[in-house]
Amino acid sequence: MTEVWAEELGKLIHSTHAPIWNASIGDRIEKEDFDFVQSFKKSLYHSKENQNYLDKNGAIQFLRKNQFHSSFFRTQLEGLSPDDDYASIPFTTREDLQTKITEIIPSDMDLTRMVVNPTSGTTGLPILAPNHPRAVGCYVPLIEWTVERYGVVPKHNPKSTFAIQLCYQEKTIVYATNHSLAGGAKFAKINLHPLAWKNPNDIEKFIKECSPQILTGDPYALEMAMKMGLDYKPEVIHSTALELTTSLRERLKKHFQCPVINFYSLNETGPIAYACQANPDWMHILPHDIYVEIVSNETGEVESTGNVGEIVVTGGRNPYLPLLRYKTGDRGELHYGVCTCGDHFPRLRLLSGRKPVYFTKPNEETVNPIDVARILRRNPHIYQFQVEQFTKRNFICRVSASSEFSELTYISGTSGSTTQGNTLQIQLQLELESLFGFGSEVQIDTKFQLDGKKQIAFINSYLERSEKTQ
Ligand SMILES: [Zn+2]
Repeated sequence: MTEVWAEELGKLIHSTHAPIWNASIGDRIEKEDFDFVQSFKKSLYHSKENQNYLDKNGAIQFLRKNQFHSSFFRTQLEGLSPDDDYASIPFTTREDLQTKITEIIPSDMDLTRMVVNPTSGTTGLPILAPNHPRAVGCYVPLIEWTVERYGVVPKHNPKSTFAIQLCYQEKTIVYATNHSLAGGAKFAKINLHPLAWKNPNDIEKFIKECSPQILTGDPYALEMAMKMGLDYKPEVIHSTALELTTSLRERLKKHFQCPVINFYSLNETGPIAYACQANPDWMHILPHDIYVEIVSNETGEVESTGNVGEIVVTGGRNPYLPLLRYKTGDRGELHYGVCTCGDHFPRLRLLSGRKPVYFTKPNEETVNPIDVARILRRNPHIYQFQVEQFTKRNFICRVSASSEFSELTYISGTSGSTTQGNTLQIQLQLELESLFGFGSEVQIDTKFQLDGKKQIAFINSYLERSEKTQ
């Protein structure tokens, strides 16, 4: 890091309006990663200009290359000819990533550079997705390319802040860094939760002082920023991680007076698609090195254009996680052909299933499901979970858990009486009730099926019912 970078970052970090930083994270980019990302950027821009997206032939080349290095690829391709039998190649499931990751990772890889991202998002099943700093670094040209489409010119300068990522959670990491792949331009992740600040009035002052070109965040955090009345006009808003509804997109656009780009990205795959400028309900495949198929959930066969099915991804640039027909758990439809926006990469329409779900406390404050997920993921006895709010104060937490957690034993009460229960369950119940606020009641149900599918982790049937009757 050059002196100027450190100086500029220092000013931001030590600002009197700064949040309470709790982490220090660099991009871990080394010289060869830098070169790798530069070359990725060159082929991305070139492919976009020439409309060369990855087709089945490209995917076949990718799997031929990995066949020699990954024993998982060899097993999956056994007895099959990629050219003739592509549609018969078994899918990679989320369960495979959990149980067969050592076979998937190519055998000749140096594992010392591995980073394992804490699983973000709100799905019930945590996924181990090993990543490499260079693959994470490729997010930079991918994001820059999308914002350029919307008229933003990224400033590669340490005096400039490229992005501020917004969150709204009780607890999350908060940090700032220079990005070596963006000429030292600064990036910060902040938490809009009042507890994350010395003085909550500083939030807007800090953002204005940094003056980021773009604001990013999931729809939940962006909605929160709008509700707080954040008065800042970025050049563009980048919405990630969850499905953005049309109504929220329109409201954000009006409030922040800038374009809102919806972005479809998974930890396991990296960015997959971004919103089309001509019709934002559709998204174009973003990278030039992934092949997307739509597959029927019933038959496992590839769906033709216009039919809805599960989104399946092959390819990518993560050296630790080459993807071979990976079933994302998300549903959508895919169209080929020219688009009036000028990007002729295939268009994807995501189907609901990734809509954000919020919980409400009996006093009507909202609770971010990520905070619920944090409690449940941290609990070593819980393998999978689903939390549902079904009345103003009643919640049910369905879990598939260790036998230690699930077994009921006799617990002696204070008056000498005994009741059936399990102290581990009671501890979890109390922890969740404290999060859901005074007056909330949480029931624990230990009969949840662990079947490796992407379960709906959060349901608010109380809110759904009250929205319908309004
Ligand atoms: Zn388009």
